[in-house]
Amino acid sequence: MRILVTGGAGFIGSHLCERLLNEGNEVICLDNFFTGRKANVAHLFDDRNFELVRHDVTEPILLEVDQIYNLACPASPIHYQFNPVKTVKTSVMGMINMLGMAKRVKARILQASTSEVYGDPLIHPQTEDYWGNVNPIGPRSCYDEGKRVAETLMMDYHRQNGVDTRIVRIFNTYGERMMEDDGRVVSNFVVQALRGGPLTIYGDGSQTRSFCYVSDLVDGIIRLMNTEAEDIHLPVNIGNPGEFTMNELAEEVGKATGKQIEIKHLPLPQDDPKQRKPNIERAQKLLGWEPKVNLAEGLKKTVDYFAESIGERVLQKPAR
Ligand code: NAD
Ligand code: UDP
Repeated sequence: MRILVTGGAGFIGSHLCERLLNEGNEVICLDNFFTGRKANVAHLFDDRNFELVRHDVTEPILLEVDQIYNLACPASPIHYQFNPVKTVKTSVMGMINMLGMAKRVKARILQASTSEVYGDPLIHPQTEDYWGNVNPIGPRSCYDEGKRVAETLMMDYHRQNGVDTRIVRIFNTYGERMMEDDGRVVSNFVVQALRGGPLTIYGDGSQTRSFCYVSDLVDGIIRLMNTEAEDIHLPVNIGNPGEFTMNELAEEVGKATGKQIEIKHLPLPQDDPKQRKPNIERAQKLLGWEPKVNLAEGLKKTVDYFAESIGERVLQKPAR
């Protein structure tokens, strides 16, 4: 198949491009390099089934493809809040442009949605039928509401135009090729620990997240794209249900790096969700999917990657 991956030079997108090529597909990777970089896909340049296009999804583009994975959108709060109006445009105009393409060429399209559509959730763990608790006017709204409108557009193009759609709600995912200045918690903690600095915990560190290793996530979204079922157009959570406080994550990063960890507390950002954990029964039932890599294993791989990419030495022997 010929497959378009928007945001393909980003963290998750680069792993997805690699997997799709390995499975024998032609891949067009489209990116404006806001938070992605050529280096993430440079190892694919020699593959004649791979093409890289510099393009912004807020502008229309004509391509002929069989499937579209729409991942274009900055995902880290510091980056999506840098230019919030652009973030909304990317989710909304980008989605319309990609859905227009899907409709024109009859391609199947998958939207990378997010656990952020649940906002600061009042039910725990989160099931797909929960409508969420999102602040529509806060500093996170450009991302949360943008993604919610993107889901609306997916469902309306499906109902109105018969477009073959898939929506994945991705929970916090981490791994190799996150940028060292990405700003999300796993890359921050790992880079800070490797550099021997204090780990910046926002607030008292009691807030929770559930961390999914990138290979598990990519496996889940490829399965979703290629599964047929009556209600397959409705959203599916993909994430690892293992739930950790940020204090526990800091300890895990200490173990994975073998470094003595110091903590520096910084203010909790406004509207930071207090808890988050996916209910993955729908993914298990529909896709036969569940995560295989636990946090300790995934962190180890992530630490090895950052140790090499930022040129720091990792102690072999744990400090405690
Ligand atoms: P990322 O920031 O590494 O990747 C996003 C990519 O999109 C980057 O390569 C960026 O340059 C590109 N991009 C941004 N705006 C664009 C535009 N207007 N036109 C073209 N390209 C554009 O983030 P990621 O973690 O790889 O996330 C990928 C997708 O998955 C995003 O849509 C994100 O919202 C979603 N997601 C990620 C997570 C996670 O934990 N990693 C969680 C939920 C949802
Ligand atoms: N966080 C933290 N220190 C950091 C970065 C983030 O304590 O250096 C916290 C943040 O406040 C949030 C959690 O870690 O409670 C996850 O943040 P991230 O930005 O990775 O993802 P999101 O909030 O979008 O789930």
